[in-house]
Amino acid sequence: MQYRPVGDTGVMVSALGIGTMRFKSRENAAEIIERELELGLTYCDIGSAYSYKAFDDNAETWVGAAIAGKDRSKMALSAKAQPRKGEPQVDRGLGINSRDQMAQCIENSLKRVGVEHFDFYQLWDMSAQDHFEAGCEGDDSPLTAMREAREQGLVKHMGFTSHGSADDILSWLQQVPDFRFVTVYYNFNDRYPERVLDYCLDNGIGVAIMGPLRGGLLTGESDVFAEMLPELAGMPVQEIALRFLLGSPAVSTVISGMNEIAHVEENARVASLEDPMPAEQRERFIGAFRRFSQGQDLCTACRYCAGKCPEGLYVPHLLGLLQLNDVFGIHTADDQIRGLAGNERANPAKCVACGACIEACPQDLDIPGRMERLTVVIAELNQA
Ligand code: SF4
Ligand code: SF4
Repeated sequence: MQYRPVGDTGVMVSALGIGTMRFKSRENAAEIIERELELGLTYCDIGSAYSYKAFDDNAETWVGAAIAGKDRSKMALSAKAQPRKGEPQVDRGLGINSRDQMAQCIENSLKRVGVEHFDFYQLWDMSAQDHFEAGCEGDDSPLTAMREAREQGLVKHMGFTSHGSADDILSWLQQVPDFRFVTVYYNFNDRYPERVLDYCLDNGIGVAIMGPLRGGLLTGESDVFAEMLPELAGMPVQEIALRFLLGSPAVSTVISGMNEIAHVEENARVASLEDPMPAEQRERFIGAFRRFSQGQDLCTACRYCAGKCPEGLYVPHLLGLLQLNDVFGIHTADDQIRGLAGNERANPAKCVACGACIEACPQDLDIPGRMERLTVVIAELNQA
């Protein structure tokens, strides 16, 4: 296993992190974590609401049972609670908007995992401005409780997870400089956080990656990559996806929610490579996308165009599906694409080429042209 620094925190973590969202049961969690620890994984991303059945029966208590008696000093445990305005569910760590609620969340999580401190504590899914306001604004905020917990040694470093825009994430990192790491959604099909990664690298902020396989879609086989990079011939898409992420010097750890031993072992093998995707190869990999795409940039899923379509089409999702099939030659989403034909709200044939989305697109993509292309792909798949 390779180990990487989490920004300037002084903490080194495994390049492959333990995700705890997809465990099937307490037994499954115990078996998987046992093997992950054997293979040298140290970073563990814990969520209080994952697999929540009761206060003492959820992913946190499963992790606690699995690591009981293990060498705590070798683990970097990262817990979190979600900031929201409205009704809190403190036991689950959801909807938190006050100092006391957050203090209780931290106490609950420490108790359930059975440890004295967390190496990292995150505001969970801080993805919109009102989430930031709920989490960070005012003296009575969850952020205040996180700082107090840090002073008491209950939490070593603070950060947040986000599906928000790159602009928002950058703004929050600048407004709260004691956020020393961030967890973002990033893979080779969704590259919008790259500005965040650059900023983090320049400013000593650690980065954890979620969604490395786009919820399981970046898997299987594709001949397309080897057309441009012959050395990737025969490599499974999931390995290419993981190598791409590990090839970024900004990335501290890639979190994967694995619940099968074979996946753990395979991903650990890739994360043990000294240079999984050298800079020169990564550059050619990214450059190849443009060529597959007839010289145009790909959609990065930045979502600036979201909500602009008068026909109600959610452009980032549709372009993401088109890219998987038509650019990367990956067929894991083909059933979803076929289904668009009968989907009143998401059929790209509804595009009237009004151009509203293009105006919002920083890459000036020919979105109506891509909607036309997606319509053709849908028809071809449905005829096949
Ligand atoms: S060009 Fe098509 S996809 Fe874009 S906003 Fe107009 S109708 Fe929607
Ligand atoms: S189409 Fe353009 S604006 Fe919309 S998500 Fe993709 S890159 Fe961003």
